[in-house]
Amino acid sequence: MNPDYHMHTPLCHHATGHPADYAQEAIRKGLPEIGFADHNPMPARFDDWRMGIEDMPRYFELIEEAREMTPGFPIRLGLECDYLPGHEDWITKLAAMAPWDYLIGSVHYLTPDWAVDNPAYVGRYEACPPGELWSMYWSAAERCARSGLFDFIAHPDLVKIFGARPAGDLNRYYEPVIAALADTGGAFEINTAGLRKPVREIYPALDFLKLARSAGVPLVINSDAHMPGQVGMDFEPARALAREAGYTSTLQFRSRERIALPL
Ligand code: ZN
Ligand code: FE
Ligand code: FE
Repeated sequence: MNPDYHMHTPLCHHATGHPADYAQEAIRKGLPEIGFADHNPMPARFDDWRMGIEDMPRYFELIEEAREMTPGFPIRLGLECDYLPGHEDWITKLAAMAPWDYLIGSVHYLTPDWAVDNPAYVGRYEACPPGELWSMYWSAAERCARSGLFDFIAHPDLVKIFGARPAGDLNRYYEPVIAALADTGGAFEINTAGLRKPVREIYPALDFLKLARSAGVPLVINSDAHMPGQVGMDFEPARALAREAGYTSTLQFRSRERIALPL
C-alpha cells in the first residue's frame, strides 16, 4: 500500500478529528505512512477555510501529539498551499517556516474571489461556459506547476468538480501542465476525493495519467481526508487507474526529497 499525504486537521474549520485518529485509521488500513497537509495560512485574512498564521504552532503540536500516540508510525509534515499568481513570495516564506517533508500546490481560486470547488459558487460555475472555466483553471494550474515551488500539485483536474467539461479531446488542457511538471521536476497526486464530490470521479482523468506517464512525471496517491474515516479511502481503484496508465511506482517524501516506492 502507498502513503496518504493529503489529510486535513480541524484548524482549517472544515475538517474533523484529531490527527492521532487519522493515524490510527491509517494503521488499521495498512498504510506504510501518512502526512498532513492542511490549508495554508495567507499573509492577511483571506477566507474562512484555512489555518491562520497564529494556528501554525498548534498545527505542529497536533502532529507531534499524533506521533506520540502512534509510536513508530511515520507521520510527515506537509502543507496544502493555495497557488495564486503573484503570491509566489509568500509560498517561499512559508517554505522557510518549518522543516516540511513536502509542499502541495493547489489551484482552488480562479480569481481571488472565486474558489472553483466552493459549492456556494456553483451558480457562477454553471453560468460560465465550460471552455472559459477550463481555460481559467488550467492556465493557473500551469503557472502553479511551472513555479517549481511545490513537491507535487493537488487534484489536477479539480475544475470538473461540478461536471462542466468542454467538448472534444481534453488533452489540450492537460499538456501544458504536464510539460511544466516535466520541465521543473514536479509531480502530481491522484486524489480520491473526487469520488465523494458531485462529479463522482477520481482526479485526474485517465487521459491525464497516460500523458503524464509518457512524460515521465511521477505521482502520489492521496485521499484528501477531512475526517479520519476517509484516510486511504478508495486507494484500490486509484492504484488500479495508475497501473492502467502504466505507472509502476509512487513516491515517498522526506525533507522535500522524494524516493520512489513500488506500486
Ligand atoms: Zn479542505
Ligand atoms: Fe484542495
Ligand atoms: Fe485538501
